[in-house]
Amino acid sequence: MDKNTHPPEQRNVNVLTSDHVFDLHKSGLLEDKNSHELVYIHPDQLNLDVFPEKLLDGDPALLFVESAADASRFPFHKKKLVLEWSAQRHFAREAAESGWRVFEVRPGLSATEYLRKMLEGNGRVTLHAMEPVSFDPRRDLGRLQKDYGDRVTLIENRFFLADPKPWEEKVRSGYRMEYFYREMRRQTGYLMKSGKPEGGEWNYDDQNRKPLPKKEDVPAHSGFTPDEITREVIREVDRRFPDHFGETERFAMGVTREQALSVLDDFITHRLARFGPYQDAMAHDEPFLFHSLLSPFMNIGLLTAREVCEAVLDAYDGSGTERGKGQGTDRSMDRDMERSAGQGTGRSTRKNNGDTIPLESVEGFIRQIIGWREYMRVYYEAMMPKVREANFFSYDRPLPDLYWSAGTDMRCMRASVESVRQHGYAHHIQRLMVLSNFSNLTATNPTELFEWFWYAFVDAHEWVVLPNVLGMSTFADGGVLASKPYVAGGNYIRKMSDYCGDCRYRVQDRTGKDACPFNYLYWAFVDREQEHLKKNHRMGFMLKTWEKKSDGEKKEIRRLAAAFIDSLEPYKAKKSKSG
Ligand code: FAD
Ligand code: SF4
Repeated sequence: MDKNTHPPEQRNVNVLTSDHVFDLHKSGLLEDKNSHELVYIHPDQLNLDVFPEKLLDGDPALLFVESAADASRFPFHKKKLVLEWSAQRHFAREAAESGWRVFEVRPGLSATEYLRKMLEGNGRVTLHAMEPVSFDPRRDLGRLQKDYGDRVTLIENRFFLADPKPWEEKVRSGYRMEYFYREMRRQTGYLMKSGKPEGGEWNYDDQNRKPLPKKEDVPAHSGFTPDEITREVIREVDRRFPDHFGETERFAMGVTREQALSVLDDFITHRLARFGPYQDAMAHDEPFLFHSLLSPFMNIGLLTAREVCEAVLDAYDGSGTERGKGQGTDRSMDRDMERSAGQGTGRSTRKNNGDTIPLESVEGFIRQIIGWREYMRVYYEAMMPKVREANFFSYDRPLPDLYWSAGTDMRCMRASVESVRQHGYAHHIQRLMVLSNFSNLTATNPTELFEWFWYAFVDAHEWVVLPNVLGMSTFADGGVLASKPYVAGGNYIRKMSDYCGDCRYRVQDRTGKDACPFNYLYWAFVDREQEHLKKNHRMGFMLKTWEKKSDGEKKEIRRLAAAFIDSLEPYKAKKSKSG
């Protein structure tokens, strides 16, 4: 954030709230000779350290656009809008305070429409930008570049560790995350010793599947009290988007880099040690368990993936890893890597807040970031835009309304949707094995589910939500990403959670009026998709089990599943009233 090219001089943010203030020179806002250079900071790029120095040389002004039109594309969760607008406003203010000339525009138009009008109205302005990671804004900026020639310059996105290009062909032909992850371990040197994985194994996934013991104490998340900037955004979001999903009440998310760093620190101190063993566990009254809650910050740039991994590795010990070999993109991390080079004593664990941080926790966490997160971005690059239409099972039922209302007696579904309504958050296994599992088993259109995830979660951006839904959780891409559909009956949920004990349904019953719907829906899925599943050797056992069931049981399962699916009320799209 520091502005080194000039002596730091505090400035104010120029806030332009009308679509019509396009002539920045006429308005007197761009008057000196250098100031016709604008660097557009996309809302998910809130970190100047990631921008190359040459783009920021020469005293450019920074341009931020907060578009109500973009915010009403879907009924985005109110907390997501508060997070993104407040974080951008804070970031713009901090930039101005460190000496940058800053324009923050709040048009009714979409960001791209505004940029186009701004270029039309300001013949002397040159616009520089880093390519956004998601497809539509990147395509739109590409069009601006085509139309305005060298008045628009674009540089590649630098917020990720992996260069997607060399992977694209492999990923399209089914190269699995596990092998990508091993390459990323080699490339970054994370958890590597003399070219070998630390501890001897690449992956400790089999140690990441414990249910939560009854008496396990789960640390609370303290959160942050909204300041005046955030309170103003909350009022605006409530006024302009009353029909959007979720609520703004009890908004306590971090909105600055400092706060995001303190969430990272809190995770390392209080949760990391137990992250690994309980990664897949679910608990009715503990929506966050030992998860980091860092995705919203990484996804808007307040934290970089590299610095998050480095902080975790430093807490673990730092020793024995071969870090520093990877190519850094953010300067803050290059500095940190220099600091950590050469440290280490050979110990593989260390005490943190009284807990020993086991290797399976650190490896499990690093795998999520340099494995899954990076892989999802590579997959997105490889598969867009055609994958948007993917629907392997040809499911066309509308999304059930309970995804909006939480109106269901199924305790696991109700708790998961409630968590999303309240926090814009559910952890990975709730997203995969409850919310998406239910959608698959009820033959719901995967695009409708993908759109729901996109608007309902605070960390959702197309580049990450699309691969997770259309690739991983619904098998809509036909197995490019996942080797088998992620579907399960009630027994999986019973094993991994405390939902079932107090549920109105009986998880042990496969049929009957009180049977857990996941049970008969699961077997109805196996029945319905026999032709597809026959080609997948990992589903062979399930097919054989289905075949062995009596005709009577099969008939009853089909009847119950059809009646259940027919009883689901379809989701009635709530239209946003933005203004
Ligand atoms: P932790 O459990 O603490 O994990 C650490 C970090 O690993 C996360 O912050 C995240 O950055 C990364 N990570 C782990 N798994 C994945 C993954 N599959 N894809 C990408 N990053 C991963 N993640 C998003 O960031 N945005 C989304 O919109 C999103 N939608 C999802 C939809 C579905 C159906 C599924 C199954 C997963 C989705 N994920 C998404 C991935 C994952 O569930 C979230 O990243 C994670 O739950 C965020 O919470 P956390 O920060 O507490 O994560
Ligand atoms: Fe969910 Fe079935 Fe358990 Fe109820 S019994 S919580 S529906 S898995």
